[in-house]
Amino acid sequence: MDKVCIFCGQPPKDKNKEHIIPKWLMKLTGTENKKMSVGWNWKEQKEIEFNFSSFTFPSCTKCNSYFAEIEALVKPTVEKILIDEFVETEELIRLLDWFDKVRISLWLAIQYHNNGTFKMEPKYFVNTRVALKDRMLVISNTYDNYKGLRWTGANTLFFIISPTCFTLKVNNILFTNCSSDLIVSEQLGFPYAAFERPNPNSNLTDFLILKGKYRQETKLFKSKLYQPNIIVSQPIFKVTKEISPTYYDNEYVKSNSYNFEKGQGKLFVTHNNLTYPMELNEEISFGDNGNKLTKHYKLNRPTLDFQIELLTSKKYNLDLLNEEQKKQHHESLKMIIEYTEEQLKQFDY
Ligand SMILES: [Zn+2]
Repeated sequence: MDKVCIFCGQPPKDKNKEHIIPKWLMKLTGTENKKMSVGWNWKEQKEIEFNFSSFTFPSCTKCNSYFAEIEALVKPTVEKILIDEFVETEELIRLLDWFDKVRISLWLAIQYHNNGTFKMEPKYFVNTRVALKDRMLVISNTYDNYKGLRWTGANTLFFIISPTCFTLKVNNILFTNCSSDLIVSEQLGFPYAAFERPNPNSNLTDFLILKGKYRQETKLFKSKLYQPNIIVSQPIFKVTKEISPTYYDNEYVKSNSYNFEKGQGKLFVTHNNLTYPMELNEEISFGDNGNKLTKHYKLNRPTLDFQIELLTSKKYNLDLLNEEQKKQHHESLKMIIEYTEEQLKQFDY
């Protein structure tokens, strides 16, 4: 993997360094000078260790300064969530953008430090992946005294192949972030995919889109994740609206979108067996009255369980593949599932 800008994927212009873990987050969690494991070196079979302050990736000065503005705005939002204060819808949208950035940055950094092991050249960078697909943030307050920063789910084979889901613990808050094609659309009443059709002749994902159910489910996934929690999710249909415009052109989708033209659905909150949309001028607090998360929760298991659910629930149509390709598809899927299950056994804490 060549030295490219983490945001635009081009050779960095006026080279700068982007911190994968921003300085404000190191400060907030007291991790500026701590040596931490940031991932796994698969070839040498050992941890990749870094001081967060030197865990950086090349970037263009211009790309870097654009995201610096977002960082400055996200900091107070995270601080409010840590102490159960109310946050506004706009702040949550920006927080979801920020999580897209952190998730993809972490993935690019792990790819970079495993140079060549996976024989994958990243197809996308931060700029092309922020707010592109359905996304979700599960927030749980552990109300513990932990001060620090850790994450889970980024060392799995699942994440290396498809960086769609991980969990970040910032002091007393667990954030599980997930983004992938249409992962919450069906549950939120939007048009959804009957299946994904791998196309060997194209880099783009091929879907069959179905008409939405025009209602919101109160449970988005089988996995329980960390309990109790409040889930914020957002359907994003910029790309799929082009594929099936007629299914999107209706009152349900329009009234449940902030920007129909740009394909931005509203944020939906799922909590206490209810799912409802958030309006732009609303606020929400993630505090949970009395219903505290147990102090002996497991950090890894809920995230890895969820990754396995995402892997096993996806439907495929293999019509465009020949026999050999079909066999390969089944085998690689089986391998990723088995490997993730194995990791789950190994890191069951
Ligand atoms: Zn750039």
